[in-house]
Amino acid sequence: MAKPAQAQPLVGAHMSIAGGVYRAFARAEDAGADCMQVFLKSNVQWRFPAVSDEDVNLFKSEQKQTGIKIVIAHACYLVNPASPDRALVLKSVDDLQKESALAAAYRIKWLVLHPGNHLGQGTPKALPQVASVLADVLRSTPKTGILVETTSGAGTAVGSRLSEVADIIRMAGGGARLGVCLDTAHLFAAGYDLATQAGYESFKAELAARRLTRRVKAIHVNDSKGALASRVDRHDHIGKGRIGREGFARIMRDADFALIPKILETPKGMCGRRSCDRVNISLLRRLAGE
Ligand SMILES: [Zn+2]
Ligand SMILES: [Zn+2]
Repeated sequence: MAKPAQAQPLVGAHMSIAGGVYRAFARAEDAGADCMQVFLKSNVQWRFPAVSDEDVNLFKSEQKQTGIKIVIAHACYLVNPASPDRALVLKSVDDLQKESALAAAYRIKWLVLHPGNHLGQGTPKALPQVASVLADVLRSTPKTGILVETTSGAGTAVGSRLSEVADIIRMAGGGARLGVCLDTAHLFAAGYDLATQAGYESFKAELAARRLTRRVKAIHVNDSKGALASRVDRHDHIGKGRIGREGFARIMRDADFALIPKILETPKGMCGRRSCDRVNISLLRRLAGE
């Protein structure tokens, strides 16, 4: 007999869209995933590919055939809503509006966004600016929501403190289409100690105090090569970095996140005779207590 849907944690990985966005589904299925993250176009170019009805139909039929339950999209890396350069901010709004429309065509509910780099203008000035970009983008598309990703705080990145993420969401209007994507490696590098029970409890307490617990709609599950509070953003395989197996077992068993998709952004390639994604996904399922 099939297990009830709730018994199985949603675990997947970021998948390549080489050859077409729809081709990510087969890659996810091969890795044993039941959810995935994709870019909707090249993540390092502004250019958008032409997307036909046929492309959208292929996407939908592949999703049905592979049984991948949840797909989330990650926005282009060039986007910087926190920039002091007005032209770049306007370009970012334009890109995000187009990406949101594309996500809606694919029936992807959430677009993950890095809140950006303030490049010297300072966080207090950048946060309301990021919020106003988000509000503009949400106004332009009726469906897609935006997940603000927590960052490692490298360079002038904003969004490495939960307080900053909460401020952005509040100033953007606080609607139901605004959420949070936690990235475990970024959180750890930013100083949230997910490796210990005490550290995890204090992280969860702050998340709750800032009314962000229910806003979490996706978790990037990445172990961290960078040390606690190092601001070094380097992802490692689950259990091989400084967060460790115990840290991920705690996250996988946290009832608050039971229904939240957990997406790997760990190095690709082979780990022994299996793909690293497959190894990491099956390890996360085991840690969840299956
Ligand atoms: Zn990201
Ligand atoms: Zn991430």
